[in-house]
Formats: sequence, C-alpha cells, structure tokens
Amino acid sequence: MGRALVMGNWKMNLDYVEAVHLVQQLGVLASSRPLEHVDIAVVPPFVDLRSVTSVVESERVPLTVGAQHVHPLESGAHTGEISAPMLRRLGVTWVLVGHSERRQMYAMTDEVVAQTLQSATRQGLAGVLCVGEALEVRESGRHLGVVADQLRSALEGLNEAQRELVTIAYEPIWAIGTGLTAATPQVREMTEQIRVVAQSLSLADVRVLYGGSVNADNAASLVNEGSLDGFLVGGASLKAESFWAICEAAEDCYSGRAK
Ligand code: PEP
Repeated sequence: MGRALVMGNWKMNLDYVEAVHLVQQLGVLASSRPLEHVDIAVVPPFVDLRSVTSVVESERVPLTVGAQHVHPLESGAHTGEISAPMLRRLGVTWVLVGHSERRQMYAMTDEVVAQTLQSATRQGLAGVLCVGEALEVRESGRHLGVVADQLRSALEGLNEAQRELVTIAYEPIWAIGTGLTAATPQVREMTEQIRVVAQSLSLADVRVLYGGSVNADNAASLVNEGSLDGFLVGGASLKAESFWAICEAAEDCYSGRAK
C-alpha cells in the first residue's frame, strides 16, 4: 500500500513572511508527531516559493513544495508566466495542473491542460491533474462522462516516466470553497471511475485525492471511506492547526490500514 498525500493549496493567500511562519508551525507540529504514512505538501503563491523551500530545507520540515500553475513553454515572451525549469531550480516538486479556478477564470482549456501536464512532467515536475464537474453537470447526471473526458484528454500521450509523475485530484467545482463536501458515495463512485479510466491509459497505481471543502471535521470520514489516497485542501490549509488535523486524520486511517 502506498502513502497518503495531503496537499495544501494556499491560492492567492499568505505573503512570504506569513508563509514562512506557517511552514515553521507545521514543522513544530510534525516534530511532535512524525507521520509515517502521509506525505505532506504545500502549494504557496509563486512569490513565496523561494522562502518556503529555503525554510523547509534549513529547518528540515518534512514536507515538499508545489506551485499552483506553470506555463507549458520553457522560456520566451510570456509576460507574467513562470516555467517548469524555473520551478525546478527553486526546489519545487509539484505543480497543480488544470485547477478549476484556472480553467474557469483564466480560460485554461483541456488542450492547454494537456500541454501543461506534458511539459511539466517532461521536465521532471510531479503534476497534480485537477478534474471535476460543475453543479449543473452533476445535476444533469453527466459528471462521470465529463470527468472521464478531462482525464483522457490530459493523460493520453504521456510516456511511462511522465505517467509515474501524475497524481489526480477529484475536485467537484460545486464543493470548492463553498462549505459543501461531496458525500462519501459520490466520492467513491468518482474515485472508482477515475481509477478505471486511468488504468485504461496505463496509469495503474495513480494516487487519487479529493478536494472540496475538506476540513478538520470531515477529513476522517472522507478518508476512512477507503477509496482515497489523500486530499487537496484549500481554505483549511491556511492555518497550521486545521491543516495538521487533516494530515493526522489521514495518518490515523492509514496506520489503521497498515496493521
Ligand atoms: C481547492 O481549491 O483546491 C480546494 C479544495 O479548496 P477548498 O478546500 O477551500 O474547497
């Protein structure tokens, strides 16, 4: 059995001073209870990355660092964009690809999502492919088909080495930042289908996370349901205590399974 992954997406929150403080707090919590079954990652804004990777390294905080977005090209005239080699140089491990906020607010199409995942994984970044349906799609019963299409379009054409760098985050759009969490049968149905589609594309052991209003109160019941490999957490990752409680819920579940 693999390890769980709990990843905090800070979005456009926390300046570099606040970011360092939060990582140091996580370091203290992690030293009071080292987690044996859970990998932890934080995904700060670009401008915090250097400070965060430095403090993680110098204070040996047991977590890895991701970026929220990356441009598919390596360099060039793309004002305001950041490339995968730049992220690698900073010690960044992960990149979110196709978060619904990028898809909705910044017109990131399935085609650009696929190009970005191709390029990021080719350059050695671990890609967290975000998929999920809007409320009207779920209400019309098309959620499984829509998510399957998102997966196929992003994952087809990756080579074996690239496929090993992929994690999938199921994030129903209607649950992100709304306080609404998908019910466990909804999570299970989608997670099972994600694994079937991923397997058909030669991603046999891919990690599948859930994201959408995960918090300290609901994390245990979600992860104990059994089909998840962890969480992508937005709002609740901005405070050390709530993020750590989610990490501990995953640890408790995974250490129980390991017995
Ligand atoms: C997210 O944006 O990836 C997310 C899951 O946000 P929240 O936890 O705030 O719903």
